Amino acid sequence: MKNIKSVIIAISLVLASMTIYACKKNSNSSGTIISTGAVSVTSVVQLRFSSAVSISTSGSGNTSSITLKSNGLPDHKTPYWGTGNALYEPFPSGHAPNANTSMIAQNLSMTIPSNPDEASSKEATSLGEIGMALNGVAIYNDREGGNIPLEAMTLTTFDNAGAHPAPSREYHYHTTGKYTSVDDAKLIGFLRDGYPIYGRKDTTGVYPTLDGYGGHFGPTQDFPNGIYHYHASNVNYLNSGFYILKAGSYYGNKGTFTN
Ligand SMILES: [Zn+2]
Ligand SMILES: [Zn+2]
Repeated sequence: MKNIKSVIIAISLVLASMTIYACKKNSNSSGTIISTGAVSVTSVVQLRFSSAVSISTSGSGNTSSITLKSNGLPDHKTPYWGTGNALYEPFPSGHAPNANTSMIAQNLSMTIPSNPDEASSKEATSLGEIGMALNGVAIYNDREGGNIPLEAMTLTTFDNAGAHPAPSREYHYHTTGKYTSVDDAKLIGFLRDGYPIYGRKDTTGVYPTLDGYGGHFGPTQDFPNGIYHYHASNVNYLNSGFYILKAGSYYGNKGTFTN
């Protein structure tokens, strides 16, 4: 009896250590083992976000956090600026606004971990802001009011950026587009769990194979030694020519986003 117990305990310990290993370590493309919480995104965040986003940090070491604030308005052309505005441009062919015809400044504040880490229990993204693009515009997932996937009719309210205003008149991106990323490896922004999101390609020019969260481990132009990162979906959504930025659950632990 005692021997069986010892064997069970030994097996349990081995399994437990394997689980921890599987959760916390991943290989980058060169085979180097990297720990998910080991990479700080702070310097890249400070370098890559536009001056329209104010950035502050709090805490120290790998438990510190970064807060990004913006008014959520785009720095590029869209019909939602309204005719007469210097940044006005027409809708894509066949597109038009629906009930939400204009956008107004918001008071966005996103706080993310400086060292994003894999969540032990993955949390689904929800309606509303799930991240922030480099220009301070909110990123939404693949859903609309009623928590239903974006429909063909809703897609016709998108501008060239794959964006439109919410009922709150908050402008937001659902997909890649003319001003963020078009079939490339550009950094688009960061999601609420602190992980960066890129266009459909990796820096090597290939379309990466993604996990169930829309990301993978590997080097990017900003993190040459590798980091977990998301990519926009490579699926032409409902044949619309738009590519969803992020669907499903966060890979990491979600920070806060207030408006
Ligand atoms: Zn929307
Ligand atoms: Zn990648």
